[in-house]
Amino acid sequence: MSYARVLSVGLVGVTGHLVEVEADLAAGLPAVALSGLPDTALNEARDRVRAAIVNSGQSWPNRRITVNLLPATLPKHGSGFDVAIACALLGGSGELPLAPLDGVAILGELGLDGAVRPVRGVLPMVVAAVRAGITRVVVPLANAAEAAVVPGVRVKGVDSLHRLVAFVRDGGRLLEPPEPDPVSPPAGPDLAEVAGQGLGRRGLEIAAAGGHHVALIGPPGAGKTMLAERLPSILPPLDDEAALEVSALHSIAGLLPPGGRLLRRPPLQAPHHTATVPSLVGGGSGLARPGAVSLAHRGVLFLDEAAEFNVRALEALRQPLESGRVLITRSRGATEYPASFQLVLASNPCPCAKPSGDLACECTPLARRRYIGRLSGPLLDRIDVQVPLVPLRAADLVAAATPAEPSAVVAERVRAARSAAAQRWAGTGWRVNADVPGPHLRRTRWRLPARDTEQLRRSLDTGALSARGYDRVIRMAWTIADLDGRDRPGADDVAEASQLRSGRSA
Ligand SMILES: [Zn+2]
Repeated sequence: MSYARVLSVGLVGVTGHLVEVEADLAAGLPAVALSGLPDTALNEARDRVRAAIVNSGQSWPNRRITVNLLPATLPKHGSGFDVAIACALLGGSGELPLAPLDGVAILGELGLDGAVRPVRGVLPMVVAAVRAGITRVVVPLANAAEAAVVPGVRVKGVDSLHRLVAFVRDGGRLLEPPEPDPVSPPAGPDLAEVAGQGLGRRGLEIAAAGGHHVALIGPPGAGKTMLAERLPSILPPLDDEAALEVSALHSIAGLLPPGGRLLRRPPLQAPHHTATVPSLVGGGSGLARPGAVSLAHRGVLFLDEAAEFNVRALEALRQPLESGRVLITRSRGATEYPASFQLVLASNPCPCAKPSGDLACECTPLARRRYIGRLSGPLLDRIDVQVPLVPLRAADLVAAATPAEPSAVVAERVRAARSAAAQRWAGTGWRVNADVPGPHLRRTRWRLPARDTEQLRRSLDTGALSARGYDRVIRMAWTIADLDGRDRPGADDVAEASQLRSGRSA
């Protein structure tokens, strides 16, 4: 027999596709040709597979070898096809009877010594295999726990090509995935640790309940980071579908924590202000690495010292903020990843970063406006909630002797508010108030009575508030009503929302 076929899986974005790896061995000058849109890493597979086969004690077929990956139209990246290619070659040369691998999808990279190395993206690959009707997969041992998370599939791990050959030829043993970690990962930081900051906590709760982007503006020491890092702790946990999607993105980045569990908490990504555009949006050779915007998918993207970010980096956030997806263009075609996150900006009010109103700050009003102005345009326009924060005073610390409300209590109010909003917007495709376009809230059915919006309309008339700003206040007022269990917002809700929008403390 001089032909063999083995199954594997390739990824396009987060979606896996079954790939058939064919090997044909013909008489002629010894050579290896790879076809089926291989990228550079896949071309290097030729050399890795040859060394691995020889160093596993198998003989290399000295014939004219053609390896083809189907479907040919599917772009293929990375080194995850190595083990499948080796099996197809050994099968085609008659060295190995491949019957035990019938209907088995095989993933993994080979080292020159024949070791099977882990690859990125095993989780979404196994999901795709199961959806295609495959019930057995062989994966690198280091990826076995991750693969075993997927229901409906029998996972075996391999650490070397030698072990896989022994299994196919002599019924040797493959390795079992480790048992999932019985202890759930430790909880993240909790709001109970935040003393004082009434306005900051309220702003964060409203942001969580309505899915609003939020800006925390205040001098150093005002607790901006403390608050931002605790937003995930009051967001609803990820449901099954979201958990799978988020875990898949982290798997592709090679960042899925060990323990054999899906990520259930909304993720938090906090890129440094020196972050490059590729690290924010994704990129790299081979299988494109998701950037911070995709690792924050269904969670929180926190930009601390936001005004210090490179203008190009801030511009790069525009596309994901608009579409919830990010397109990574590279020389070998584009990859699209989901990137729908809740944005939290934190910034000093001025470039000197000294307490405002203090004699220490000598920034002119113009310098202050310019500084925050760097955020306008792409970002500040999309932010509903703006919370002014002041440094913690001694009085706050005394008041803080009574323990602050823990995240679990706030999360319960957020859950109830989100469920009220979801019911109201059922059938529209909007999940949270932040999704609802302004004009929709001005239409008859949802329009608030004139007496409740009088103050707001006056601000609009005097130019103190833009039309967009008006919509944002109304949208937030709905969230405040949802949090307080009212059917629709009243004048007080509009007033509170108005304060949070203008960034003035009450
Ligand atoms: Zn200053």
